[in-house]
Amino acid sequence: MKMKNLLFSVLFLGFFANSQTFNQDYANVANLVSQTNINTYLQDFEALGVKTTGSIANNNAYNWLRNKYLFFGYSETEITKDSFNYGAQSTSNIIVTKTGTKYPNTYIIVCGHYDTITGTGANDNGSGISVILELARLLKNVPTEYSIKFINFSGEEQGLLGSAHYVSNVVNATSPKMSIRLVLNIDEVGGIKGQTNDTITCERDESNNPSSNNSASNTFTQQLMNCVTLYSNLKTNLSYAYASDYMPFQSNGEIITGLFEYNETPYAHTVNDTYSNVDPVYIYNIAKATTGAVQHFAIASQMLSLDTAKEALKNFKVSPNPAKDYLQLEIPSNKNQKFSFMITSLEGKTVSKTENQIRIDISKLPKGVYLGTFKMDNQQITKKIIVE
Ligand SMILES: [Zn+2]
Repeated sequence: MKMKNLLFSVLFLGFFANSQTFNQDYANVANLVSQTNINTYLQDFEALGVKTTGSIANNNAYNWLRNKYLFFGYSETEITKDSFNYGAQSTSNIIVTKTGTKYPNTYIIVCGHYDTITGTGANDNGSGISVILELARLLKNVPTEYSIKFINFSGEEQGLLGSAHYVSNVVNATSPKMSIRLVLNIDEVGGIKGQTNDTITCERDESNNPSSNNSASNTFTQQLMNCVTLYSNLKTNLSYAYASDYMPFQSNGEIITGLFEYNETPYAHTVNDTYSNVDPVYIYNIAKATTGAVQHFAIASQMLSLDTAKEALKNFKVSPNPAKDYLQLEIPSNKNQKFSFMITSLEGKTVSKTENQIRIDISKLPKGVYLGTFKMDNQQITKKIIVE
């Protein structure tokens, strides 16, 4: 949606801004970003046509997104629609809410618009959409302390209509007003095919209207840059936020940050903004960086020691580990209570679920790393299980 004069940007290497350390669990999730998925999202997004706000293609894209989130496992009630009119036509923002374990009423918003103008918008903003879809897929079964809202806005190209509508009709209309920890906007991160796309611009709030939120935005943006270098092979460039869906939040006093391509496409808003003109590997790397950063911002659980509550569950053990044919559960004191044990793949697929069984047959599971979740009396603990 925008043009940026690089003279105002400062090349910045993320490790100079180091304020948090590498987290192997976050990296394990970030490394699950799939290049194949990214390519498929980009091509499907292109095939939906020119998604002008309020058009049939625009509304088809809404349904395409909704089906993707349902397929990832989000429930009907976790997916909400925020509709508004553009001229005589109706269009909608789509909002997917993942509830936090510790701060369920405070949100990390990760957003990127899905409407396009003139062209099918592979870069502007199929790239951001692909990153957010992959992020939502991977975080589905990763508990986070803060709630996360994945939002795809419409009406961006007509002047940030969807995000402005959401801020006034949802954020400010909620009682009490919605509490937002951070807004991370991802718009135009496709790079330029054939160029070396190895740097991502991280955008902080430098607006004076208001300026009260600028220093917190700077802190989060420094952390974002650090996460980029921790969880991807990209370099970072620090610049300022403008002309995209974070701005209505900025005006509302919220703390914002953003991602924008460093090599800026000459094809935005033209018929040449196509899959063949973006760099899908660059988008893959941005998805890895984003997946690391959002786990950091939302405080994802350490999978090895996830303990959502009671001390009692700390005594829960699963052995042997690594295991081959079976797992033996050593359960906490009160043995008369019902319990369940569910094994999921790192991609979030349930491969085994048993109730009140302490010996679990795993002889048919392919070798690999799994997560075993033990649940008793609304408490749960997840442990990493290696099957050999
Ligand atoms: Zn855009």
